[in-house]
Parts: sequence; structure tokens; C-alpha cells
Amino acid sequence: MLIETHAHLDYPEFAGDFDDVLRRATEAGVTRIITIGTSVESSKRAVNLAEKYPSIYAVIGVHPTYAEEAEEDVITPLWELAKSPRVVAFGETGLDYHRLPSLELTKERSTRATQSIADAFQYSTEEGIEAGIHDGAYKSKQASLFEQQPDLAVELGFNVVIHQRDAWNDTLEIMRPYSGKLRGVFHCFGGTIEQANQVLDLDHLVSFTGIVTFKNGAGVREVATQIPLWKFMVETDCPYLAPVPFRGKRCEPAYTRIVAESIAAARGLPLVDIAEATTETAEKFFRFRA
Ligand SMILES: [Zn+2]
Repeated sequence: MLIETHAHLDYPEFAGDFDDVLRRATEAGVTRIITIGTSVESSKRAVNLAEKYPSIYAVIGVHPTYAEEAEEDVITPLWELAKSPRVVAFGETGLDYHRLPSLELTKERSTRATQSIADAFQYSTEEGIEAGIHDGAYKSKQASLFEQQPDLAVELGFNVVIHQRDAWNDTLEIMRPYSGKLRGVFHCFGGTIEQANQVLDLDHLVSFTGIVTFKNGAGVREVATQIPLWKFMVETDCPYLAPVPFRGKRCEPAYTRIVAESIAAARGLPLVDIAEATTETAEKFFRFRA
């Protein structure tokens, strides 16, 4: 019995064979699936799915990469959605600096010049300075969207699902004051053991995806063997990050089992031990009410 703690079942990738996706999850022993909202609209779809299917639960929030297009007030609609007893946490929220305006500019230029020359001139031109200003605005927009969500979660008694990409220190700084008020799960964890310990020291959790099965995922797999059994959960982040042997294909919740099996093998434990521990951790972290 496993809980898939991070799926995007409202994405169009699942529209064609939704019932088969759920059936394969059940057959793989994945008895509960948490579907994660990435915008207000996506969160609405997540709640609708959770109200329709008994094995699905919803997490509601606005993803940092939607910061530019997000509505001025996301809190009122999230507050309304949280009234559904099928909502079990807030998120995914956090920071994502992977596509900063200045980095996009560098990428654009590297098609015209070599990477190192583009880097050297990045901030020496008006274009570069402009992009740097945009970076600041983009980051502060993400930060304000981010902070509102754990604030609401504390008020309503929920934990939060955290998305972090290329923004480690800023994400940790924003989460620091919430220790003791709520818990966060740093989902799709891909960092070092030191970073995992920083998260655990703040009484937060991590969760692992199919990356633990990748050839170049040895570092993350190692982290998954070193941290205490009760400090992590398993997920797929489907439709992305399908584990080996499905790498590159569409991912789905049934593959949570492959993630758990991979961690079990790396830790030298039977699958049932990983299943029991991660299920218990998820039952405490998420607010299952109905
Ligand atoms: Zn996600």
C-alpha cells in the first residue's frame, strides 16, 4: 500500500486514458493519489477530481512559474477551494529561478556567439542590465506569491508542498519562520545530504521521484539511503520524470511503486518497510479528512 504524494492528474496528458491510469495505480498497490494544483484553475480541476474519485485527494496552490500570469488575488479562490474536505494541503508553491529573464537572454545569445563570450558581455550591455532588473522583479513577484500560501495554510491548519529549483537559499529563508507552525515537503528532492539535513533540521520533509532510478541519479539515491526512514515520502511528479525503464515516456502514479522499490533496494530493505514508513509519514503530513 503506497501513497503517490505528487501527481498532476488534471494535465491533458491523462485525458485519454484516465480510468486506465487509476486502475494501473490500484494494481500496483498505489491506493491513494494526491493531485497537485499549479494555478487557481488547475487547483479547481484537482478538487473536482478529488470529489469525483475516492482514491484521489487534492493539494491547492499556485506554482512559482505562474507568478507572472497569476491573478492579483489568489488567496480568496484558494480559501474557497480549501472548504472541500478533499483538500489535504496547500501548494505547490515555492521559488523557481530556472528561467530568469537574464538567463533566457544568455541562452538567446549563445545561439549567436559562444557561451563564454555571451556570459562575459551579459551585464556590460544595456540589454543585460535591463534583464538584471527584470530578474529582481521576477524574483520578488515569486516571493510574494509564495509567502501568501504558507500564511493561508497556517491560518487554516494545513501543511505545504514546496517546489524549489535553482533557488535553494531564498526558498529556505522564506520557509525558516514557518518552522513550528506548519511543515513543508521539499518535493522532487534532488539536492545533497547537507541540503536534505537543512530541510530536516527545520522539521520539514523531502520526497523522492523517479530520479532515484536514473543512471545519473546516484547522488539522490544515496541521499535516500542516508536520511531517516520517517523523513521522506515517495511521488512521481507525473506526467514528468518517469522512472527507468519508462524514462522519457509519460509518467503515471503506478510508477510510485518503482520509486519505492528503488529506494528499498538501495537501503537493503523489503518494499513493505518503505511502503509502511512513507504511508505513515504521508498520513501525518497530509490532512486526510474524508
Ligand atoms: Zn509538481
